[in-house]
Amino acid sequence: DQSVCTPLPVLGRDVTVPLVTGGEVSYAALDYAASAPALQRVWDDVAAYAPYYGSVHRGAGYLSQLSTDLFENARKTVAEFLGCRPADQVIFTRSTTDSLNLLARAIPADCEVFVFETEHHASLLPWQDARVTYLDAPRTPRQAVETLERALAGRDPYGPALVCVTGASNVTGELWPVRELAAAAHAHGARIVLDAAQLAPHHPVDLRDLDVDWIAFSGHKLYAPFGSGVLAGRADWLQAAEPYLAGGGASRRVTRRQDGGVAVEWHETAARHEAGSPNVIGAYAIASACKALTEAGWDTLVAREQHLIAKVREGLAEVPEVRVLSLFGDDAPRVGVLSFVVEGWNSSHFAAALSAEYGIGVRDGLFCAHPLVRTLLGSDPQTQGECGAPEAAPGEKSLNAIRVSFGAGTPDEHVERFVNAVR
Ligand code: PMP
Repeated sequence: DQSVCTPLPVLGRDVTVPLVTGGEVSYAALDYAASAPALQRVWDDVAAYAPYYGSVHRGAGYLSQLSTDLFENARKTVAEFLGCRPADQVIFTRSTTDSLNLLARAIPADCEVFVFETEHHASLLPWQDARVTYLDAPRTPRQAVETLERALAGRDPYGPALVCVTGASNVTGELWPVRELAAAAHAHGARIVLDAAQLAPHHPVDLRDLDVDWIAFSGHKLYAPFGSGVLAGRADWLQAAEPYLAGGGASRRVTRRQDGGVAVEWHETAARHEAGSPNVIGAYAIASACKALTEAGWDTLVAREQHLIAKVREGLAEVPEVRVLSLFGDDAPRVGVLSFVVEGWNSSHFAAALSAEYGIGVRDGLFCAHPLVRTLLGSDPQTQGECGAPEAAPGEKSLNAIRVSFGAGTPDEHVERFVNAVR
């Protein structure tokens, strides 16, 4: 099937890098989970718009009007891409981290938060000011749902509560049972936010179908690396909250009070949390990526990615020293993100060798998910290193792992080169 073998055109495919062994080779970007390359289509759209750039919501001139239209149309495109309900808001942020921190500031003061310890730090840490229950790592999707149900069962169903869960792990690539977790949350009167940073680039994500209250994702992982992210979903808590940033754009009316102070009426639309001049190019780029992925067709994109995953899995299975990390078992459905350790190798040295000797860019470390990687490696928390690349003494257990990740722009040759290099 030709479509399974044809990657989408992305930038950076003609970049060559020097090898320590001499000569140079085309760069194999296999770190999509950190940042994916821009789709050529996104770059073309951005380049076509750039000469007409103008300030959004802040000018009467033609280019200002044009930019405002593009920005607001980008919001509609993202809403369609995510299957938003009519009353949902799409807020443009800087990233997933920014989106989740914004929501964390908007939850009611007495809100309880439930989060698995396996989350990326962006979804694990923003809730520190709330009453947080950290849930132990489940070993099956079913156990994840049961763990959540047990935790929610004891709470006051009339008080506000929020569950935060990732759709696809940035470490193992495994898919989480989002629909079932959402049903469990709602059955107990809680709301749910989906961290779709790793899911949205690989899988269709539909807010209505999954029945989640909010979705967060980043442009730079969705082939649109121009500094924007998204928080989309229910408006009520966001409208009731203090603006994320105080400033122009978020304020509808500002007056001097008789006591000498300043009174502010804030907008109740998405603008409430978008103070300052918005990143119109970032938003436009995300909308362009949403359209490009939809037009390419999710069936084709998913089939192609599964074809690449199978190649990597089969290749790594032939190397007895390789241990692929997984919470839910080897056969669990996953996106094109996979971490592993190699017996007898320090993961950082291994990743450095892939770069220096083969021109392959992967990531090593703890992937901003320290508790999860610690669970997967079975390592002692006291010897676990910090984010970065801790050294394991020769013959000792790995303290960190190697991650390979890919997506819509990855040619077969990159994963074939990777598998051969590991061999
Ligand atoms: N959640 C997950 C699952 C991620 O993989 C990442 C990025 N590695 C984030 C959140 C944070 O995304 P960003 O750095 O774009 O804010």
